[in-house]
Amino acid sequence: TPSLPARVRVVVIGAGQAGLSVAYHLRRLGLRPVDEVLVLDRGPRAGGAWQFRWESLRLGTAHRVNDLPGMGDLGLSFATADQSRPARDVVREYYERYEEAYGLGVMRPVTVLAVEAADAASGLLVVRTDAGDVLTEVVVNASGTWGSPFRPYVRGEETFRGRQFTTPEYVRAEDFRGRRVVVVGGGTSAVGFVLELEGVAASTTWVTRREPEFMAGDALNQEAGIAAVTMQDEAAKQGLPLPSIVSGTRLVATPAIAAARERGVLQAHPMFTSIEPAGVRFADGSFEPADDIIWATGFRPELSHLAPLGLRERSGGLAVERGHSLRDARVFLAGYGPQASTIGANRAGRLVARQVVAQLAETTKGPS
Ligand code: FAD
Repeated sequence: TPSLPARVRVVVIGAGQAGLSVAYHLRRLGLRPVDEVLVLDRGPRAGGAWQFRWESLRLGTAHRVNDLPGMGDLGLSFATADQSRPARDVVREYYERYEEAYGLGVMRPVTVLAVEAADAASGLLVVRTDAGDVLTEVVVNASGTWGSPFRPYVRGEETFRGRQFTTPEYVRAEDFRGRRVVVVGGGTSAVGFVLELEGVAASTTWVTRREPEFMAGDALNQEAGIAAVTMQDEAAKQGLPLPSIVSGTRLVATPAIAAARERGVLQAHPMFTSIEPAGVRFADGSFEPADDIIWATGFRPELSHLAPLGLRERSGGLAVERGHSLRDARVFLAGYGPQASTIGANRAGRLVARQVVAQLAETTKGPS
């Protein structure tokens, strides 16, 4: 276990795209890694959530993964990375080299258990971890969503005799060989699972809440993406629970996806209404036998460690604007809501770092 400093100025929770981007910009703005800016991550290695993604996932199959700020100066770019290798390996290696080159001093594995207000007089926060406590002036939460997969409740699910998986629990298609699988979800992960299971599973039934929309190119999807980000931004400002990203973006029909649709592989069924021991029941009364259900139904921000700060609004979400908590000036959220993509996380880096420095200047001034 790493040995943590007792007191720093900024603690960044999470070393994914968002946390690293913030750490990079804070360093550029003159704050010293480790002494002043402590980045903590519970993962065993570099890579953020990418290190845990399933083996077959490749960069460039669905989305674009943006480079971290300053990555180009190191001669690294995801655009030219080897796309035949698993994304989790490529991203881990690139992040590793990035952390090393910029001396970001990420401490891992360290799990943040809770963030609390220290004694009222000091105005400091205490970050409680499995490696000890750290006092800090500011916390930047960049814990992502991977640890908090969302699964809708469906009547009868506890009676199901087969296996159930969420996206983070999916390892490889081979685990489903010869089985009847129901894949739930309207996003890129669900589509990816359906494609992988073709010819491996005995049958694959794809179920979505809404009829999926496939777009030919990237351009239209970008437009839908902007609309989705705007929705997230509005919700975050008002402290509402964040809407699903998937509900706002349409799916990109890559050549592989277009071909699969031609073959009739990507036929979406409407959501089933109940689960029975041997399968799922649809609204029209029809029944689909199933051995396994894969829930690729999205994620929620992982924020339970912030609970002691009481940031949650009665409306159910956190009130956040431009990555800054509207409830507690000492708390920032990078990669939250509208920033939950690699491009958003990069933007968050600069935006949050500048505000953090301004906030530190306030605390140094002290109460007037
Ligand atoms: P993460 O990468 O999840 O990093 C959060 C880090 O915080 C993790 O390392 C975690 O270990 C750490 N952490 C969490 N809680 C704690 C705690 N309590 N204590 C200590 N550490 C903690 N976006 C794109 O732009 N392009 C894509 O192609 C793309 N593909 C995706 C594919 C899948 C399957 C999924 C699920 C998402 C994809 N995304 C993609 C979205 C992607 O998750 C984000 O773009 C980005 O990687 C998120 O970065 P992040 O830093 O916010 O979170």
